[in-house]
Amino acid sequence: MSNLQSWGRLPVQKQQLVLAGSAAEELVGQGKASILPRGLGRSYGDVCLNPGGKLLSSAALDNFISFDPQTGLLTAQAGVSLGEIQRTFAPQGFMLPVTPGTQFVSLAGAIANDVHGKNHHSMGTFGDHVTSLTLVRSDSSMLECSQETNFDLFRATIGGLGLTGFITQATIRLQPVQSPWLETENIPFKNVAEFLMLSDESESDFKYSVSWVNCASPANGRGIFMRGNHAGPQFKKNSTTILRSEPGAGKLTVPFDLAFSLVNKASVTAFNLGYYYANAATAGKHVSHYQPYFYPLDAVTKWNRIYGNKGFYQYQSVVPRTGGEDVLQEMLDKIRASGQGSFLSVLKTMGDLPPAGLMSFSRPGITLALDFANHGSKTLRLLDALDEIVLAAGGAVNPSKDARMSREMFEASFSNIAEFNKYRDPAISSAMSRRLLGS
Ligand SMILES: Cc1cc2nc3c(=O)[nH]c(=O)nc-3n(C[C@H](O)[C@H](O)[C@H](O)COP(=O)(O)OP(=O)(O)OC[C@H]3O[C@@H](n4cnc5c(N)ncnc54)[C@H](O)[C@@H]3O)c2cc1C
Repeated sequence: MSNLQSWGRLPVQKQQLVLAGSAAEELVGQGKASILPRGLGRSYGDVCLNPGGKLLSSAALDNFISFDPQTGLLTAQAGVSLGEIQRTFAPQGFMLPVTPGTQFVSLAGAIANDVHGKNHHSMGTFGDHVTSLTLVRSDSSMLECSQETNFDLFRATIGGLGLTGFITQATIRLQPVQSPWLETENIPFKNVAEFLMLSDESESDFKYSVSWVNCASPANGRGIFMRGNHAGPQFKKNSTTILRSEPGAGKLTVPFDLAFSLVNKASVTAFNLGYYYANAATAGKHVSHYQPYFYPLDAVTKWNRIYGNKGFYQYQSVVPRTGGEDVLQEMLDKIRASGQGSFLSVLKTMGDLPPAGLMSFSRPGITLALDFANHGSKTLRLLDALDEIVLAAGGAVNPSKDARMSREMFEASFSNIAEFNKYRDPAISSAMSRRLLGS
């Protein structure tokens, strides 16, 4: 038994890690609600935790199975990491069509949480590019699921939070790219209204866009808008454009667990000010390798340790675009007034592609993602207050990053829960499912 945590490092009870074989037969014959599939544990909250029970890890399923350069279709085992896919196929002119902000995520974990990236407005979510998957269930069935076969289970498994069975392998369509570099542009903005104007003007011409927003006083709502496109083959390393080089992912690390959090009002305010001015000073056009562009946080391994042994909460919401400016300002004001500003505050618009999964979080609107050091009831009160704002606006909170939302908030965020429950595997449950789905 070990006390494996999620990325947010909130304290949890012990749980047993079991390595899955290629047929994931370990799932078969498990008792009711006793086991949970596990990828690389990069989820912030409790969706990848099963305190007191077992975790079925895909770590041993790390092989590529086939790749067709004519179609871009890649079949790989569940535990292959997104970083491995990028490193292997970028030199061959193919990359993931959608990637989250870290490459240390497994293929099946990306499907189960139906992750999104900086290009939701142009490419949707990860699940939009999955063409088929193989699912093992505790009744010993091994099912091929796709648009054509077992479609209902396919749609429930994309964004299904690991609760429908164990994915052993999947096929995704990679996108052709002309180089591993991106042409990017950083533009400072003064407030949410300017952010929305920049989003509107960028969405048709830029494949990627994301913003960092200041959540601490002074000047909360101010931020940096970052947009980009894949660079063409004409790009050369000796280009006169400012070049942002490729860092070796994870060269820096936070070397040990801290008993206390380095994240407090003073450090958050200082970071937010410094981040703004450093980026405003180098605003303009750059050429960036995909590593620092897509995965800036991966440059420091174990950065989650800065929050100390009480861990932190990630809070991601999405609110409708209409009226969204006022709602976001209200949230930013509430955060500033609480004195619990967030280091990493990411603001982005989401496009109107229909959701890939029955329980996908992504939907049209504006999404704000924040990290808060865990200060116990003080932090929980702030997050409840943010829920109230999101609820009143008709928005949703992302369960794949959450560790504390109420059932009321969850049920208001998702209209397909009853339908989804039909596809759950009875042997599987998580800390999240017990909290929000009752089992
Ligand atoms: C720095 C950082 C940046 C991030 N940026 C983003 C972002 O931009 N967008 C975004 O959407 N998310 C983002 N995330 C969250 C992360 O991408 C997701 O939580 C992702 O799903 C984690 O994958 P994992 O392999 O670590 O899976 P885990 O965290 O281990 O598990 C995630 C879920 O997948 C299920 N699962 C795992 N393996 C299987 C399997 N074989 N079969 C069935 N279910 C399985 C688990 O049960 C669990 O429900 C970020 C996380 C970090 C730490």
